[in-house]
Amino acid sequence: MSEWSDVCPLCHKNDQVQKVTSVVASGSLSGHHSVEGYEGHSSSQTDLSSKLAFGPLPEPNDAAGCIGMGCLFIVALVVAAFAVFVTANTKGSVSGAISSNMTPFVLIVSIPVVCLVIIFLIARVRANNRKDFKKSQAAHERMRAPWERLYYCHRNDVVFLPDQDSRSYADAGKMMTYLRAHT
Ligand SMILES: [Zn+2]
Repeated sequence: MSEWSDVCPLCHKNDQVQKVTSVVASGSLSGHHSVEGYEGHSSSQTDLSSKLAFGPLPEPNDAAGCIGMGCLFIVALVVAAFAVFVTANTKGSVSGAISSNMTPFVLIVSIPVVCLVIIFLIARVRANNRKDFKKSQAAHERMRAPWERLYYCHRNDVVFLPDQDSRSYADAGKMMTYLRAHT
């Protein structure tokens, strides 16, 4: 079994073959332990080990949605306060001041309402995005098991699963695509 299982499907040898997990482990290890003037250097991982690492799925950046909701909330608050202020000041002549010219008043009152509706819609989109992210995160985590069985050939710069009948392989750069196809 081991005679062919860890043999590279391209060069049909295993002298340059290493488990991806140990490539990544040794890559980050050598970075941490190198003391030859590289202290504090940012490249603690080698290019290869960072290419083959199984990192967590990056979280979507929804700062824009947050800021948008905050801004809309402030606008809604300010306009609502303004509407209250206007109503309080025209109380003496409510029938006269408002009923004679309803349009600006309706406009002022509708602005906070529209803001709140938009906030509600943004919140719903954000909740949906969150749900989608959780789903793709679960799919991402399912690829961890095949990743742990993955081999890498230094000669051909390819990754491959040892127990594939078809002896499939992929460029190291396309590792995640390969994993996705074999999950
Ligand atoms: Zn090879």
